[in-house]
Amino acid sequence: MASQVPEYGLFIGGKWVSPPGAQRFETVNPATKEPLASFVSGTAADVDRAVTAAHGAFPAWKETPAPKRGDILLAAARILTERKAAVGRVVTQEMGKVIGEGLGDVQESIDFIEYMAGEGRRLFGETVPSELRRKFCLTVRQPKGVVACITPWNFPTAIPNWKIAAALITGNTIVFKPASNTALCATEVVKVYEAAGVPPGVLNFVTGSGGVVGTALVEDPRIRTVSFTGGVEAGRDVYVRGAKQLKMVHLELGGKNPVLLMEDADLPLALEGVLFGAFGTSGQRCTATSRLIVHEKVYDQFLTMLTERLARFSVGDPLDPRTGMGPVASADQEKKILEYIEIGKKEAKLRYGGTKLTGGIYDRGYFVAPTIFETEHGTRISKEEIFGPVLSVIRVRDYDEAVRVANDVTYGLSSSLYTRDVNRAFRAIDDLEAGITYINAPTIGAEVQLPFGGVKNTGNGGREAGSVAIDEFTEIKTVFVDFSAKLQKAQIDSE
Ligand code: NAP
Repeated sequence: MASQVPEYGLFIGGKWVSPPGAQRFETVNPATKEPLASFVSGTAADVDRAVTAAHGAFPAWKETPAPKRGDILLAAARILTERKAAVGRVVTQEMGKVIGEGLGDVQESIDFIEYMAGEGRRLFGETVPSELRRKFCLTVRQPKGVVACITPWNFPTAIPNWKIAAALITGNTIVFKPASNTALCATEVVKVYEAAGVPPGVLNFVTGSGGVVGTALVEDPRIRTVSFTGGVEAGRDVYVRGAKQLKMVHLELGGKNPVLLMEDADLPLALEGVLFGAFGTSGQRCTATSRLIVHEKVYDQFLTMLTERLARFSVGDPLDPRTGMGPVASADQEKKILEYIEIGKKEAKLRYGGTKLTGGIYDRGYFVAPTIFETEHGTRISKEEIFGPVLSVIRVRDYDEAVRVANDVTYGLSSSLYTRDVNRAFRAIDDLEAGITYINAPTIGAEVQLPFGGVKNTGNGGREAGSVAIDEFTEIKTVFVDFSAKLQKAQIDSE
């Protein structure tokens, strides 16, 4: 394909390479449908080369003292800070989130890289008393080896950095496969680590489809850990394939996140939270508010407030700082969201929006109106992840019913309760089946120093971010040092 856009290669063994005759694909600006850049459609042979490079680089990287690895991460954080404005703009152009959020995506990356750099001087193990005399017991952390990082498009710099920084500081080498439609953002991420001085082979980058590159990574026996963020369908495929080789597969998957709005809530505060949670990033955050479960006493009042507020909410050019919501991320996203809106029209009452936006700038991109349905609990739109600007509002009689509804989905990522009743707030922390619960704040707003992940079909038990992020990428070795100079038998010797 003759292309007018910049062409990028794969990053293998510290070099940018474009295999001769390689197939290529382009990414597209969802606000304008203009092509942005061209990338290699990687093959199983490319994955093999990348894993070989990562495997070869592992022993020296493992031997590099963790604080020295941390120095490289600090350099990466500094370089990304210098490039923040430019990379944030690329995020907005390639993924469609508004510029404030594009810059926020990059800032989250910087914050996490810095946080993980500090981990280079911790990576704590434990010292634990022995039941025997003159015996010393401790644990140390060791890297897993070569890890695969497979990432989605909705946080196109932050999620890759969550994985890459945690894997690097713990001494692993990496093959990174990004979401195809945000490959330019991913390329920018790799360039930052290259500039920071990550040694050749330690971070490798293969673009290409999930079915080819992702599958080849998951099936390569030299990769012992796969860190995957994406949808349930692909996640299950990765898990099953990985299981055949008894690999560690870390999954961060979808959500159907509720806000529970109680009759005593601060309604103006909740209004801003629901608006940001449901329609920020065009509803394409894994933690986006997709269900609003409202106490009957404030239901009519709050819905009126919400629809009046939405009428003043601007949808448009994501590079304009006044815009509240940009396009959805791709043609596929638009198609899927509009299909769900049609399903919603059949099974629920459309209260607001419900269309593809047309006219002017809207005709050039993938713009969907912020949409609100009033629905019974149990409809498809109230239970399935739509991943778009579509909010299902459900009326309930009381707190107990709100919790029952909130928990009756297969996902469990984020959740939120608006109330002024402190007892009810603490009950919700106990009651809500979710990895994250916010009180009087929207379902979105992760901070990098806290664990991130969910329960039920949102994952398989691991957490990213926070200090626990290193668990995913380390093996714990237990060490016994017996300095008694005699054979001592645990559980058998009594004195
Ligand atoms: P996706 O379609 O599952 O893709 C995610 C990544 O997996 C992409 O790099 C994709 O490559 C690759 N992939 C697809 N099929 C694969 C396979 N069979 N084997 C290996 N890799 C495969 O998800 P998405 O549409 O990019 O992202 C949206 C989903 O991510 C939503 O469900 C959202 O909730 C979830 N998400 C979860 C979290 C969390 O932390 N829990 C955070 C963000 C997003 P291609 O791009 O080439 O298809």
